[in-house]
Amino acid sequence: MTIIDRKQLVAEKEIFISCIVPVYNEEEVIESFLAKLQEQLKALSPHFEIIIIDDGSADHTVERIVGLPKSYHIKLLALSRNFGKEAALTAGLEHCSGDVVIITDADFQHPTEMIPTFLDQWAEGYDMVYGVRSNRDDESLLKRAFAGLFYGLMTKISRINIPSNAGDFRLLDKKVVAALNSIEERGRFMKGLYSWVGFKSIAVPFTVQKRAGGKSSWKFSRLTELALTGITLFSDIPLRIWSLIGFIISLIALVYALYIVTITLIFGVDVPGFATITVAIMFFGGIQLLSIGILGEYIARIFNEVKRRPKYIVGNRFGFDE
Ligand code: UDP
Ligand code: MG
Repeated sequence: MTIIDRKQLVAEKEIFISCIVPVYNEEEVIESFLAKLQEQLKALSPHFEIIIIDDGSADHTVERIVGLPKSYHIKLLALSRNFGKEAALTAGLEHCSGDVVIITDADFQHPTEMIPTFLDQWAEGYDMVYGVRSNRDDESLLKRAFAGLFYGLMTKISRINIPSNAGDFRLLDKKVVAALNSIEERGRFMKGLYSWVGFKSIAVPFTVQKRAGGKSSWKFSRLTELALTGITLFSDIPLRIWSLIGFIISLIALVYALYIVTITLIFGVDVPGFATITVAIMFFGGIQLLSIGILGEYIARIFNEVKRRPKYIVGNRFGFDE
């Protein structure tokens, strides 16, 4: 599709927009959010669908959604349990059919007022338009420090370039969606996959809003797991660095051995050295356990892939068959 075609499609409101919204225990905000979202989409084109993926909510989220008017163009995939946001997004991407797809959170933290801007950038020829948060005020110091560390490490050790502070709030052309859907990996790290597929992309800054209600479901343990997934799926350096570390340690050991031999030959046998031995044993024990642990991280993920279980299971669907 040429830029002229894209501009025409947007100007004439002929474009088909899919909006993907993953939700998990959002009963407090979901109705008001969807009321606002469908108004905003309607203003852009009469052709749109809102695909909601209920990620195994334990509250009344699903009932609230099913009760909404037909004019909202809602399609709902209710997963059979909580599979996590990455899996929910994957489900959404595999069930949407728009010319463009917009991904947004349901808690009003992503300013959906920016959708027209995203669409304008798409019309200018960009296949992916991603929101970059200009503030992290809503997050704790610990989460911010952790995020900084993660992005720093990721840039150094992976071959893909993950823009820091970019999240899931973005617009994707259907080409990008097809590319993402062609990835069969079970371990999903969306931030990495968006970069990995490539395509012409542009960042648009946005201010993160306060959560309108309900509470964030991110726990530190979940974030750590996600970071580990990201690192192991997009870099093999943690796996390969041990050859280098082993080589350096062997070299140091050789030099030290030569030193001991020389000293012994010149000054005779030096009996003490228990401390040195204990420290050395502990140090190398630690290094070996660490390297085995890292090996384990990769093996666990290989195990996960070879089992070939589905990435998510749809328990119920509404609005798809008409
Ligand atoms: N979410 C989800 N599955 C989960 C956790 C969260 O689909 O297991 C959804 C949630 O409903 C929201 C979005 O992902 O629409 C972002 O989640 P949240 O606001 O809890 O995270 P935060 O914004 O604090 O990073
Ligand atoms: Mg949120």
